[in-house]
Amino acid sequence: MNEYDSNRIYDTVKKIGYEKTETYEDANCYLLNTCHIRDKAKEKVYHEIGRVKKIFRSKSKPLVIVAGCVAQAEHEEMLKREPYIDLVLGPQAYHKINDTILNYQKKKYKEEETEFDAIAKFEYLSKIKNNTNKVSSFLTIQEGCDKFCNFCVVPYTRGPEYSRPFNQILDEAKQLVDSGSKEIILLGQNVNAYDFEGLRLSNLILELEKFPSLKRIRYMTSHPNDMTDDLINVYKNSKKLMPMVHLPVQSGSDRILKLMNRKHTIKEYLEIFNKLKRINPKIEFSSDFIIAYPEESESDLNNTLALIDKINFINSFSFIFSPRPGTAASSLPIIDKKVSLERLEITQKKLFENQIKMNKSLENTIINVLVENRMEDKSKLFGRSEYMTSVLFSGNDELIGKIVKVKILNSNKNTLFGELADQTDKKVA
Ligand code: SAM
Ligand code: SF4
Repeated sequence: MNEYDSNRIYDTVKKIGYEKTETYEDANCYLLNTCHIRDKAKEKVYHEIGRVKKIFRSKSKPLVIVAGCVAQAEHEEMLKREPYIDLVLGPQAYHKINDTILNYQKKKYKEEETEFDAIAKFEYLSKIKNNTNKVSSFLTIQEGCDKFCNFCVVPYTRGPEYSRPFNQILDEAKQLVDSGSKEIILLGQNVNAYDFEGLRLSNLILELEKFPSLKRIRYMTSHPNDMTDDLINVYKNSKKLMPMVHLPVQSGSDRILKLMNRKHTIKEYLEIFNKLKRINPKIEFSSDFIIAYPEESESDLNNTLALIDKINFINSFSFIFSPRPGTAASSLPIIDKKVSLERLEITQKKLFENQIKMNKSLENTIINVLVENRMEDKSKLFGRSEYMTSVLFSGNDELIGKIVKVKILNSNKNTLFGELADQTDKKVA
């Protein structure tokens, strides 16, 4: 979502004449868009600003703006602690960036804008063209969260759950498709909680399916409690919704899920898994895991490992619990660092084994790949499989934006290496 936000901030500031520079040294404005989900996010920001300060030591100072969730969490504290920062903008206030910059240029007073104003933000953004111009584009449809998991800072930094108007999203999707996007990844902190006057994520996907030149649809991140039957049923007939469900479970232990305030059990999670597999056996799963959550025992960890074995997640994110200021779990006693690291290693070993196995199983098969771009070193084309795995192969630039058949010759944990099997774009994956 930060990538989407950064692009939209850029679309906005272009209106008042800003352009991206190739190097730091050429910039007269420096904007840092920040994430607060884990770890020492705040310290990283001050460290980065220190680096910028050094770069500009013998030059005139750029306008320095900190945006995103660290800005939201820290607000005016940032301006006090680091006078090099000029403006602070929360994630629901970045539509005000142009006025904030122009005001600052006129009056030179430092400002922080951290109101939660998602409606005004998206109304403003809907009037500004999304210039992303990528084969695969992000599109935010929902923001914020009302679920208050005990470990998570999102409800405090992104604010309450908000779903963008249905037609506003379709208009932005049309812009993206018209400017060449072949894949749209619908985004939200709880994307499947999307609900605009009764219209749900399933309705949105079915509408997007009608865009002839759009070839693939994905969404993330979803919450198990919002995985409703209407959404599950879209997988029955959809040609464009990819058969990969990112469904964070966090832990395989009911006891830990309860302590996290996740409000579902492993049995319920498995029911969703089974329903989806029954509807479309091609569907594979990925997840997020929080390891060493306060009070996690060896037996809780074993339950997580057993769940990984059962589901065979093909791609997952796993992190050690990181206490976030202001959240319910922030003051709980944490598990010893060495034990936490050992548990993370054990979990990742299992997750990575599955990932490697899945990639190996594709060797000597032909898969559909949406070609996104050419690698920076120009040697190979880069694309993604239906399951989001990176695929590298040789070919000419005309294939960018097309779905091609690639024969997989080799693989590692994260990448499939192949050769072009067929240059036609007849079969939509
Ligand atoms: N809304 C989605 C859900 O509930 O499944 C997840 C969105 S959250 C922004 C992204 C991921 O960050 C979570 O799934 C969780 O694994 C991770 N995360 C959030 N807070 C964390 C914390 N305090 N420590 C470690 N990981 C955390
Ligand atoms: Fe955070 Fe997701 Fe829980 Fe909301 S549902 S509080 S975004 S982890």
